[in-house]
Amino acid sequence: MSSTLRFQVVGEAFKKKPLEVPNRADRPSEFFAKYVFNREKMAQYLPKGVYERMCDVMDNDTKLDLQTADAVAEGMKRWAMGLGATHCTHWFQPLTEGTAEKHDGFVVHDGRGGMIEEFTGKELVQQEPDASSFPSGGIRSTFEARGYSAWDPASPVFVIDDTLMIPTVFISYTGEALDYKAPLKKSLKAVDKAATAVARYFYPDVTKVISNLGWEQEYFLVDEGLYAARPDLLMTGRTLMGHDSARNQQMDDHYFGAIPRRVAAFMKDLEIRALELGIPCKTRHNEVAPNQFELAPIFEETNLAVDHNMLMMSLMREVARKHGFRCLLHEKPFAGINGSGKHNNWSLATNTGILLHGPAKTPTGQTAENPNAQLRENLRFVVFIVETLMAVYRHDGLLKGSIISATNAHRLGANEAPPAIISSFLGKQLTNLLTALEQSDDNQLFNLTGKKSLTLDIPQIPELLLDNTDRNRTSPFAFTGNRFEFRAVGSSANCAAAMIVLNTAMAEALTDFRQRVDTLIDGGMDKMKAIVKVVRDDIKTCKPIHFEGNGYSEDWKQEAARRGLDIEQSAPKMFQKYLAPESIEMFGKMGVLSEAELVARTEIKLDTYTKKIQIEARIFGDLCLNHIIPVATRYQSQLIDNVHKVSDIFPSDTARQLNENNLRLIKQISEHSSFITENVSRLIEARRVANRIGDEMEKAVAYHDTVAPLLETIRYHVDKLELIVDDELWPLPKYREMLFIR
Ligand code: ADP
Ligand code: MG
Repeated sequence: MSSTLRFQVVGEAFKKKPLEVPNRADRPSEFFAKYVFNREKMAQYLPKGVYERMCDVMDNDTKLDLQTADAVAEGMKRWAMGLGATHCTHWFQPLTEGTAEKHDGFVVHDGRGGMIEEFTGKELVQQEPDASSFPSGGIRSTFEARGYSAWDPASPVFVIDDTLMIPTVFISYTGEALDYKAPLKKSLKAVDKAATAVARYFYPDVTKVISNLGWEQEYFLVDEGLYAARPDLLMTGRTLMGHDSARNQQMDDHYFGAIPRRVAAFMKDLEIRALELGIPCKTRHNEVAPNQFELAPIFEETNLAVDHNMLMMSLMREVARKHGFRCLLHEKPFAGINGSGKHNNWSLATNTGILLHGPAKTPTGQTAENPNAQLRENLRFVVFIVETLMAVYRHDGLLKGSIISATNAHRLGANEAPPAIISSFLGKQLTNLLTALEQSDDNQLFNLTGKKSLTLDIPQIPELLLDNTDRNRTSPFAFTGNRFEFRAVGSSANCAAAMIVLNTAMAEALTDFRQRVDTLIDGGMDKMKAIVKVVRDDIKTCKPIHFEGNGYSEDWKQEAARRGLDIEQSAPKMFQKYLAPESIEMFGKMGVLSEAELVARTEIKLDTYTKKIQIEARIFGDLCLNHIIPVATRYQSQLIDNVHKVSDIFPSDTARQLNENNLRLIKQISEHSSFITENVSRLIEARRVANRIGDEMEKAVAYHDTVAPLLETIRYHVDKLELIVDDELWPLPKYREMLFIR
């Protein structure tokens, strides 16, 4: 395609009417959750007794009886039909990273030859979609093909277009999870139980601990026309070839820059749709790379936040097309510039406040009778920080396994956020605090003058750490004032994978902590002293995971290895961490995933990895042989033609001089072309060899070690050809065309 043609493609997309962005005069608070059957709608559409039962189900996880379900379904149907809904679907998250749905109409026979709309409690609560076409990692063949989806009342139903969407878990007929939501909910239950038990040391009236998640979603936009002219983008989500644009992000002018108007219109449209669906959008800005942007809502309870992120990703794709864009959620759509992640801001909160928040200056309950409220708050804070570090320390490899994928591998460990080694950054003040505690002994710490005035002599913890924590952008797991920010999650991933591991690991750390403290208390030790003793031990134990330096530096890689941290770089080997004895034990003890489920999940991860590289290698081979080589040859023939013509009309000495440059180009084209042709054959052969391997793990490793590297090696030569061949002939839109929205 010539550049004129390419420009026309952009022009076409550009001409598409710059959408009717709903020009909402009303305030977001007025249309927020318009399409969500939230408590307010429940109160309006359900009989009072049914509404109260539902609240109990939502708040206390009690079981829903079929009679109540019928009444709820009836109210839901009335509400949804009022918005034009004619269908309903169970909406679930199979292990594909996407969501799945199967729509059923509300209609049933009325027995007199007509139809009526009906939606029963049974349809709301449980359905039986055929599980055989979803990844099951062997669970399907060992057990039954059928699976069922069951309503998750903790995540409200919503209406999109004509369909009532019902968030559900998806499990095999024998009870194994085939999705992300089922184990996520179990991990949230586990962390609730363990954290409540520990929080009660400090606040006896705590009854529930909630895990919060605030995700930040990064993405790219490209013109739809250009996207369509890039088979690699279309089929794999990333460009497999393309020379750097002369200008990309080196001027640092995109981050937080003015948002282009077409993009602003897209964002506005997207936000309105999202707000109407109850997603509390808050922040939007340009990211570091050209055409890269970010969107972040306000944090929510983790289960809901995960659903909202899945919903948001589909909305982004859909709304982008309305605006003549394609939204790229791939972790690395373009080489040479930043990739996209999804920062997961995570915290725990009791029904009364956030557990990772620094202590208040005047803690509640600090009275003359209870002078120890400050001590209690300080200790509560330290315990939850240190036990988070313990969780990450014990399962750093598994955490990496939870976020790695064929696509995120391009980001992880490359020269940008985040490094391929998990460590945690705390900032100066917290570091000082932990060091003081670690080096202290009881006599120093406790000033036991009379029964009531127990004091803990540790450095002052500022009330608002949020403004004081230094930002370390090279840390994959940084404390940011009242939460930890897990930055290694990939932009296309389901956040649940990381949240399952983090919450389960935290549940395990807290359970273990509580047991050790209780043993000391049972042995007669004062409660606060026992807590300090165990925390001090843990500060020492988890020290290797705590790192304040530059996570990208070479020194750190060596230092991390010395500290015994997980430094594995190969994606397939990282998946294996799910099957490490300490992982199986943790998931089993916390009641989140059985060994059979872990085996199945790992198999799916390996299989997905292999298939992704396989597809990339196929497309790449086609592009090289059918697009690049023919065009390079054509241009080379033109040059050869020209050489002959110059030789015809000039004396040989002059001709030799004049032809010098073209001859050099002819030679270069030949060299690059033969390298490409030969290595595409090697690529095909490497695939053939890998495909014959039966073991999923070995096959994925073969794809990682032998197929994937060839893509990079060959690409170098294709990109060189791009610089040589006449722009009029070059068949693919170039980086400089795709990366700057006009
Ligand atoms: P930054 O880019 O500086 O990290 P953003 O404002 O883009 O910050 O995003 C921060 C995210 O963290 C938001 O989703 C916000 O709601 C979330 N967040 C804030 N406090 C908490 C908390 N206590 N627990 C979980 N998430 C939080
Ligand atoms: Mg952030």
